[in-house]
Amino acid sequence: MSRCYVPGHWSRFYEGEELVSLFVAEIEEGMDEYDYSGPVLRRSESRAGIMKVASSRDRLTSRERELFRVAAEVQKRTGCPIMTHLDEGTAGEEQIFLFQQEGVRLDRVMLCHADRKPDVGYHRALLSAGVTLEYDSAFRWEKQGRKDNPTLELLGLLLPEYPGQLVLGMDAARPAYWSSYGGGPGLEYLWKVFREKMLEQGLTGKQVQALFVENPARVLTFVR
Ligand SMILES: [Zn+2]
Repeated sequence: MSRCYVPGHWSRFYEGEELVSLFVAEIEEGMDEYDYSGPVLRRSESRAGIMKVASSRDRLTSRERELFRVAAEVQKRTGCPIMTHLDEGTAGEEQIFLFQQEGVRLDRVMLCHADRKPDVGYHRALLSAGVTLEYDSAFRWEKQGRKDNPTLELLGLLLPEYPGQLVLGMDAARPAYWSSYGGGPGLEYLWKVFREKMLEQGLTGKQVQALFVENPARVLTFVR
């Protein structure tokens, strides 16, 4: 998504096969310690284990469609899983449609921030295509002072139907969310607080275990 990069950033200029080869090298050889900001390139021993691509609210721009096709091609060559950014939870259908056209393995695709748009019919449509949805707004609803928790409601309905296709995260990148900086709720929230709420909601220990362990393990594994 272009708003995340400064004007003149290299990512705005390269296309197609040029980008594919940059990404494949980070997966197979090692990530560049200078983040491809050049001119010197030094590959670290750490190889990338996932790609993230992002789209704008409601629709993909033509540049975003090109970048999604690049990610698709890289997955076909390397087997690397793909994680996508849904802006405010939107544009999931278009992302999936594009990946289907490109022959991507949808069981290695994770659509993130889906619960920012807590519409159960929309989520069912995405899940029925075979992708994994990542929910990370559980603590945000509480921070907003809401009595209900749409993330918990989605899980109550959808985890029994799609036990293998949901994962949780925090997306809590600000120090104000971290207890070590005096903020809250802290990164332990999911395991210590939200897990209890899911069990109270009637979800089983087995279903909750899948959310935390088996489902991420599958979607983060390279296609063989
Ligand atoms: Zn994101």
